[in-house]
Amino acid sequence: MSTKGSSQKRGLLIVGSADVKRALSMSDCIEAVDKAMHALSSGGADVPLRTVMKLPGGRNFFGVMPGYLAEPRGLGTKIITIFPDNAQLGLSSHVGLVLLFDSEIGFPLAVMDAGEVTAIRTAAASAVATRALARHDASHLAILGTGEQAITHLEAISKVRTLRTVRVWGRSPDKAAAFAKEHGSRLGLKVEVAATAEAAVSGADIVCTVTSSREPILNGAWLQKGAHVNLVGASQLVSREADDDVVALSRFFVDSRVSARAEAGELKHAMDAGLVSDSHVLGEIGEVLNGKVVGRTGNHDITVYKSLGVAAQDMAAARIIYDRAVRDGIGTTVPFFGH
Ligand code: NDP
Repeated sequence: MSTKGSSQKRGLLIVGSADVKRALSMSDCIEAVDKAMHALSSGGADVPLRTVMKLPGGRNFFGVMPGYLAEPRGLGTKIITIFPDNAQLGLSSHVGLVLLFDSEIGFPLAVMDAGEVTAIRTAAASAVATRALARHDASHLAILGTGEQAITHLEAISKVRTLRTVRVWGRSPDKAAAFAKEHGSRLGLKVEVAATAEAAVSGADIVCTVTSSREPILNGAWLQKGAHVNLVGASQLVSREADDDVVALSRFFVDSRVSARAEAGELKHAMDAGLVSDSHVLGEIGEVLNGKVVGRTGNHDITVYKSLGVAAQDMAAARIIYDRAVRDGIGTTVPFFGH
């Protein structure tokens, strides 16, 4: 065998969903996503706008999200399908693969379950935004939605603020009750079920909208002064979880300006209604973290973080998973190159 051949002998690490959970703690992911969002807003990441293909029927999507991140070091792509009706079959609505490459020699390093990575890194990003934008004494959380993102958001927000009350609302009272029982006790939090979204949001300091709704489920009139809102669920121009008041009333921040212009339905609707202009986006969360843009100016501001999800977050999470998996023998390495 040639020298080149033997030095090319490399394996490919496969990390399934249970192993992603073992390798990626929420606390570690929050810190990694914090660094990634810094990098995204200061030239340390390259994240082209994702390609999202609508599948026949118009309900389902196939998305490809490439990204490069200098620190934590990551190069690769997420390939994900979004089948919202899967939940009715007891299946995840977001499934796919994260492919991590070595950014020095270009070789693929690992293939990981994208659904679990997405669930954790999205909530970690909301936690980073909440840490930066919510009042320091924010302690009442409302979660609208009871799916996978609701589960990870409950944990993530509890990592960055001391929660005294948590209220959850879902369009299915049974699912909301099951959510409150299972995840409240798992995390040692008292989670109450609210009969309406308005009742959940009333008096809340932090609101997370994590539904697949295409129409507003959150009204600005319900928000108390000083609240912070993470708008997470809508990721197309034709969908929005919050009404125009939520946008117009708030100091409005995004994960990526490029993504927000192309994909933020709440922003587009408020702009089309003539209530706000492009300059309503005060900055990326990375600019707040970098100190280039002021986040909250006082206890009465309502702040909004519009999350669309960027590959820099996936790469940051994938790097942790890969390093931890190699260190602790998590996952399965298959002979791949040169074998
Ligand atoms: P799930 O399918 O696990 O949960 C979806 C939730 O939305 C369920 O509680 C569902 O209720 C609820 N829902 C669906 N339609 C409506 C409606 N019309 N009105 C009120 N509630 C509704 O999805 P995930 O938790 O994984 O994702 C939630 C949303 O977040 C999705 O839209 C997804 O695309 C988005 N997302 C955003 C990311 C980002 O980076 N910003 C990343 C990943 C996901 P029920 O159970 O009754 O159907």
